[in-house]
Amino acid sequence: MADLQALVEEIHHTLKPRTGEGKVADYIPSLARVDPNKFGIAIIDLNGTVYKTGDCDEAFSIQSVSKVFTLTLALGKHGETTWNRVGREPSGSAFNSIVQLEHEHGKPRNPFINAGAIVISDSVLAGHTPREAIGEIVRFVQYLADDPTIAIDPEVARSEAATGFRNMALANFMKSYGKLQHPVDHVLGVYFHQCALAMSCTQLARAGLFLAANGKNPITGHTVVSSQRARRINALMLTCGHYDGSGDFAYHVGLPGKSGVGGGIMAVAPGKASVAVWSPGLNQNGNSLVGSLALEMLANKTGWSVFGG
Ligand code: GLU
Repeated sequence: MADLQALVEEIHHTLKPRTGEGKVADYIPSLARVDPNKFGIAIIDLNGTVYKTGDCDEAFSIQSVSKVFTLTLALGKHGETTWNRVGREPSGSAFNSIVQLEHEHGKPRNPFINAGAIVISDSVLAGHTPREAIGEIVRFVQYLADDPTIAIDPEVARSEAATGFRNMALANFMKSYGKLQHPVDHVLGVYFHQCALAMSCTQLARAGLFLAANGKNPITGHTVVSSQRARRINALMLTCGHYDGSGDFAYHVGLPGKSGVGGGIMAVAPGKASVAVWSPGLNQNGNSLVGSLALEMLANKTGWSVFGG
């Protein structure tokens, strides 16, 4: 689609004035000092053509978007048995809620809330030291994006660990139910580092492309996962990818997507393209405010919603 470049520029131009809105995550200094006016968009279609604009090549903290990559890794290692440890239902609670976990005896609702992602980090850790598991995650993301420069921001990883009291509570709580197989500090070491991956919109869109193409990276020709698995990961992103705002995101955008508190969102238009947006100001559900609006405009103008044009 030749006019996709014009469209990303139009979206950027229209929404740029709103980038000051929303609240930048401030639970760690390295996120709190990010310029709230940053705004990038990148789209990659199945031919590998990139349409991008704004701060699309500046790396930011992908935070919970990483949960898609670790889920993919865990499913590769453990297959469907992964679902014995974590559910597949939207949570209807905040991403870091502990209340639901008690009701459900330490089995997290889905792999995209923090508790679920911590269980997934535990399963990626199987057979590895934490350092090896972190290396495996980084290499996997580099492989998906076909970009060996992608790395973890060590300052973000350190601050996550220094302030992650609630994640420590969630992990200890699950450990008390026998739901984690490794020591809590090892599991959280992996989790905090995956959250600290730094990527640009261009890299993120590229890394998600296999999910738009039935599990196969259309540029390298590598099969990452089966088409059935890609479909299922997309289903989870659609139902659970935006914390307690997942229903709203499906309603307004209609694309499988995963957001992070760094202000990034990776979204997938199956059979068409992979998209990443970044704008640090968050709405009340912790999703990028302008990023969500940008994806809504994109879906409206392209007719890419999975629910129809
Ligand atoms: N590192 C953040 C946390 O675990 C990630 C939150 C997010 O992006 O949802 O609290």
